[in-house]
Amino acid sequence: YRVKRAGGGHSAFRQEDGRSTSQMERLSALHRAIERGELRLYFQPKVNAQSRAVVAHEALLRWVRPSGIVGPLDFIPLAESSGLILPIGRWVLREAVDVLRTGRLQEVCVNVSALELRQADYVDHLRSLLEESRVAPRQLWLELTESSLLEPRFVPVLQELKVLGVRTAMDDFGKGYSSLMSLVSLPIQMVKIDRSFIEGIGEDTPDQQRALEVVRGIVALATAYGLPTVAEGVETPEQANLLTKVGCTELQGYLFGRPEPLS
Ligand code: C2E
Ligand code: CA
Ligand code: CA
Ligand code: CA
Repeated sequence: YRVKRAGGGHSAFRQEDGRSTSQMERLSALHRAIERGELRLYFQPKVNAQSRAVVAHEALLRWVRPSGIVGPLDFIPLAESSGLILPIGRWVLREAVDVLRTGRLQEVCVNVSALELRQADYVDHLRSLLEESRVAPRQLWLELTESSLLEPRFVPVLQELKVLGVRTAMDDFGKGYSSLMSLVSLPIQMVKIDRSFIEGIGEDTPDQQRALEVVRGIVALATAYGLPTVAEGVETPEQANLLTKVGCTELQGYLFGRPEPLS
């Protein structure tokens, strides 16, 4: 296999001769990756917008191959369509909780796919994992995409998580089709504003002014309902300052740190 870096399309599964691999070949490659322990968690910091102090880290999955590092966009879709996301998701949770158990990080945010949340025993599994490791539920955040949270059946699951004390964030807000109503009616504890709004904020063009006004509106609504907001993909000091000015609670992006292995 020839491998390109994260974001390079489906290069993770391209053969030496350049031909695309079959679904079966790609699936067995991902199986082997799990068996060989080639999946790793990288961590990216999130800071308080006012103080700029690090408040938590987001766990982001990487496939570390001898030939290079593959990003999740290259293999999560296959993991989801094949069901492999379930064992992968359990591994991610166990790994994140272990990082908390050993005190290497104080708060960790984990990305969870809708398929994982559909498992009837998801919350029970999480509860026993936290109990066994003696990790406080408040140290763990689950990030769920806007689109996956649209499923009405998740409302009771979110309630259960809330009772357990594990907090949830709505990821990629503004990217999909959910209404502002879902933002304020779901039992979630954080809104993560999609990077597409943050990109380019800070340049003095009409488009950027509009993007900033949209962010200002989302933040105002969330704040009115007591929901903190985090802006993802912050790359420049200008963006950070404007986002702080419109009232974002937290900031995340390359400006403050790239995803990196714990070591
Ligand atoms: P996401 O949850 O929206 O994660 C943010 C993505 O933006 C990450 O890409 C991160 O590396 C990237 N990013 C962070 N700061 C910046 C910045 O300042 N500029 C730019 N241009 N990009 C930035 P990554 O790591 O490739 O992850 C892509 C997606 O894969 C994630 O999007 C998430 O939906 C999914 N994912 C990652 N880890 C997991 C996992 O453990 N489980 C599941 N189900 N999905 C995961
Ligand atoms: Ca996320
Ligand atoms: Ca995003
Ligand atoms: Ca996402």
